[in-house]
Amino acid sequence: MADTKQLYQEVILDHNRKPRNWGTLADATHKAEGLNPLCGDHIHLTVKLTDDVVDAIGFQGESCAICKASASMMTTVVKGRTRGDAEQLVQEFRDMATGKLDLRQPHHLGRLTVFSGVRDLPTRVKCAILPWHTLHAAFDSIETTSTEAEDDPMHAPIGGSA
Ligand code: ZN
Repeated sequence: MADTKQLYQEVILDHNRKPRNWGTLADATHKAEGLNPLCGDHIHLTVKLTDDVVDAIGFQGESCAICKASASMMTTVVKGRTRGDAEQLVQEFRDMATGKLDLRQPHHLGRLTVFSGVRDLPTRVKCAILPWHTLHAAFDSIETTSTEAEDDPMHAPIGGSA
């Protein structure tokens, strides 16, 4: 466990020093704003889908280290993937962060499992999930999403009614 914790800290630090895909796309096809009032996280996400593939993605905003690292890593992982694959990752990441995913079962999270420890930190779960929930909102053309709204990522089924 010590190694996992150390890796987690290194990843958080690295992505905060050098956030990947930082910025706003001028030619975005999808965008959303995500809010987590409990922590004060506020991010803007822009996505350019070409033939249903994430061609480019950018994020910007004010957030804590966990949220920023999660957003930064998310952008690197979903870039080049289809919307369907990205949505699957949203679901898996959410299940992992809330402790519902058994990591011994097959999944597609890869190095994102570094965030699995947040399931033991209830106050940080929403920080880690916010970028993913915002990505889901952007795909669904929901321009503003909040962890405290009716579509709370902790309660609302992702892609359930869509
Ligand atoms: Zn936060």
